[in-house]
Amino acid sequence: MTLATLDLAAEVKDILGNLGVKPGSYTGGTLAVRSPVTGSGIGRLPEISAADAGKAIEAAHEAFLEWRLVPAPRRGELIRLLGEELRAAKSALGRLVSIEVGKVTSEGLGEVQEMIDICDFAVGLSRQLYGLTIATERSEHRMMETWHPLGAIGIISAFNFPVAVWSWNAALAIVCGNSTVWKPSEKTPLTALATQAIFDRALARFVAEGGTAPKNLSTLLIGGREIGEVLVDHEKVPLVSATGSTAMGRAVGPRLARRFARSILELGGNNAAIVAPTADLDLTLRGVAFAAMGTAGQRCTTLRRLFVHDSVYDTLVPRLTKAYQSVTIGSPLENGNLVGPLIDKAAYDRMRDALDAASSEGGKVTGGERVHQNEAADAYYVRPAIVEMPAQTGPVKEETFAPILYVMKYSSFDEALKLHNDVPQGLSSSIFTNDMREAETFVSARGSDCGIANVNIGPSGAEIGGAFGGEKETGGGRESGSDAWKAYMRRATNTLNYGRTLPLAQGVRFDI
Ligand code: NAD
Repeated sequence: MTLATLDLAAEVKDILGNLGVKPGSYTGGTLAVRSPVTGSGIGRLPEISAADAGKAIEAAHEAFLEWRLVPAPRRGELIRLLGEELRAAKSALGRLVSIEVGKVTSEGLGEVQEMIDICDFAVGLSRQLYGLTIATERSEHRMMETWHPLGAIGIISAFNFPVAVWSWNAALAIVCGNSTVWKPSEKTPLTALATQAIFDRALARFVAEGGTAPKNLSTLLIGGREIGEVLVDHEKVPLVSATGSTAMGRAVGPRLARRFARSILELGGNNAAIVAPTADLDLTLRGVAFAAMGTAGQRCTTLRRLFVHDSVYDTLVPRLTKAYQSVTIGSPLENGNLVGPLIDKAAYDRMRDALDAASSEGGKVTGGERVHQNEAADAYYVRPAIVEMPAQTGPVKEETFAPILYVMKYSSFDEALKLHNDVPQGLSSSIFTNDMREAETFVSARGSDCGIANVNIGPSGAEIGGAFGGEKETGGGRESGSDAWKAYMRRATNTLNYGRTLPLAQGVRFDI
């Protein structure tokens, strides 16, 4: 089937119907959704008004007041059921991700697998939300730390991980005793509707099995940026986890700070890799190709800058350029294609602007041209671009959310490290080397300044077990694994006196 003859609207209707989404929620509304695969419309969703969004947040707060009283392992049972429902829905939801975002099939399915993985992680966590017992200087006293639920947690997500980001936040937030309010990207609301229907099914099973759960534990707000702003400004939302561009973080961060609310900011990256003289070049080639071209360059962790030692430059870069020229580009729904479309025309225009700017800075551009436009004029497939740059200038220091890899030569490791860190963003990074000193230095305090630093794998594609996030203009937030759960709870320090006297700390006396 060609791009021109694909009927994605009909397929979307079937998938949503099978997943239990009501037809009225994706037809006849004001928010038009298109598939980047063909450029054609696949739904029109009713949007919530700001006033109704405010009411929904109040209701989510009420849900929190009840849910915080449910024991954490019981809360974990709900997330276990969510994981089961996601397993059952994996192929349908994965397909919908591919249709709505344009991810190739294995990546669409991989995104749902990530949701399942975080559910498993959160179930275990629901029996491990522990604090400390701390030595106290006062006799017959005990000091301890306890962790309590926080409230209705706001989640704002970007188009490129339309459902996984919700699950990273929601699975943890819910086992931690919170309710959640989600404002998905206006470009990907259909996968959000499907996810909400899957959650509702898990909740219904939980209640049918005798569990106690409030209505409005998970709320979905369909709308644009102004609905995100309602979430950001609402006094009943103590934490907003916002994933998106640095521009969005710049708007959201200060607004949250103004009312002393907490934030988890997961913003843009400008990720780099260093290829050292001792690198295994076959492995490097594969690592770089996936990290730079995968997801059509639309991952926050996409590899965008490559520093290649001058002793291996002339071996690696021609091989890489060849891979760029031969990579299969086309419908992400067809097996064998590795690069799907850009999300929309604006993304393509930004890619072209960045390539023009790179050329005017002396860059040698290979690729970057549109393909398949004769089959689907409104779909934006591009050949990934590789740009040999004389220096790290102009667009190289910015994140352009498209498949552009800037390649630069270096001669000393210290110089490479300096260039590596000399950008405003700080999400993910890697080094390809077999030199133990370089590898260890790269992950040490004087190495990569990013939240993620890898050795002999590319910067893109994280596992849920680690804390995910980055430094500098990437926002500083951490979510998913490790102890990221602590961000969704409030910490209390408790001192208990089980004696009959009242000794004061630091020997202070107050005898009345
Ligand atoms: P975007 O910033 O355009 O939108 C992201 C979300 O923020 C959307 O839901 C949008 O409606 C909302 N939003 C925008 N302005 C807002 C405001 N002022 N107040 C409240 N909400 C607002 O991003 P995008 O184009 O959807 O996604 C691509 C960007 O996201 C890239 O920069 C990418 O690096 C980044 N990203 C980061 C991570 C991470 O974990 N660091 C993960 C995925 C994507």
